[in-house]
Amino acid sequence: MDARAADSLAGLDLIEEINRLKKERNAVILAHYYQDSAIQDLADFVGDSLDLSRKAAATDADVIAFCGVRFMAETAKILSPDKTVILPDMDAGCSLEDSCPPEQFRRFREEHPDHIALTYINCSAEVKALSDIIVTSSSAEDILSQLPKDQKIIFAPDRHLGGFFNRKTGRDMLLWPGACIVHEAFSEKELIKLKAQHPGAPVAAHPECPAHILDHADHVGSTSSILSWVLAHEAETIIVATEPHIIHQMEKAAPQKTFIGAPGADGNCNCNMCPFMAMNTLEKLYFALRDLEPRIEMSEEVRVKALKPLERMLEMAGSAVGKGDLGDPDQPVAPAAINSVDGDC
Ligand code: SF4
Repeated sequence: MDARAADSLAGLDLIEEINRLKKERNAVILAHYYQDSAIQDLADFVGDSLDLSRKAAATDADVIAFCGVRFMAETAKILSPDKTVILPDMDAGCSLEDSCPPEQFRRFREEHPDHIALTYINCSAEVKALSDIIVTSSSAEDILSQLPKDQKIIFAPDRHLGGFFNRKTGRDMLLWPGACIVHEAFSEKELIKLKAQHPGAPVAAHPECPAHILDHADHVGSTSSILSWVLAHEAETIIVATEPHIIHQMEKAAPQKTFIGAPGADGNCNCNMCPFMAMNTLEKLYFALRDLEPRIEMSEEVRVKALKPLERMLEMAGSAVGKGDLGDPDQPVAPAAINSVDGDC
């Protein structure tokens, strides 16, 4: 933010101004679980990306202020083409999206003409448009079970998530070599130390983590699934191996429990904060609502092509989209304190 913009905020009550603009613009504010807690607290809905997009599509708001990263706001635009979708900071990208440039993905697909592309929702609209079926971490297994065993599959862009499903289903999907820098940063050595300090504390982990972290997890699942699982679990102390801002919702829903972010290599969880999510601030949200910029634009051709594999997921996943659970099916799921149902980062 330049100095002039900062000056123009002097004396403003930002929360009040954001709420005033929200009304004026007939806007809905959506916040991902990995957003700063101040943004989560003023949002109309907090959740993971596809669920937020569906909530946005279902409201009669004219404007969607998406406090998350760019691919999430794009998904909202794909599903709600007539609404204005704004993102507080257009540079809020994602390492998974960055690791899968559309041109390279197109060439990769051409080199493997007998494979279909199952693509994780954490990718650009262009990559979605080049895919056959989009999946979330909660819908992928159900969708895979409906595909013939001998169907050759490319899984992109997260090699850890794809590897997790290969191990879980016995498939041999060809994995695009992308990764989430946040979930890759957890340290196995530090996690083992932390477990020793808290004997009996279960570990809940996101499947974007590498296998050596998932090996120590009692529950592996999407953000929504992790949230439900930790709230339902009887343990008073739980270790959480995903972006630590989600702990804000856990502490609100279960203040009597202790949630500990899994550590990175330096022994704390600070290196596991998503630097892209952190680009959104209350100040930038205020300006975005005031100016209706930066806004998500895409060609109708890309949007329509990207919509198809998203719709295929919704058709195929049926009951799985909404369960948000990859973990132990015998574990009871608590009534979620937050209205969220789907699964991705
Ligand atoms: S946490 Fe990882 S997957 Fe999610 S937005 Fe950040 S970089 Fe992307």
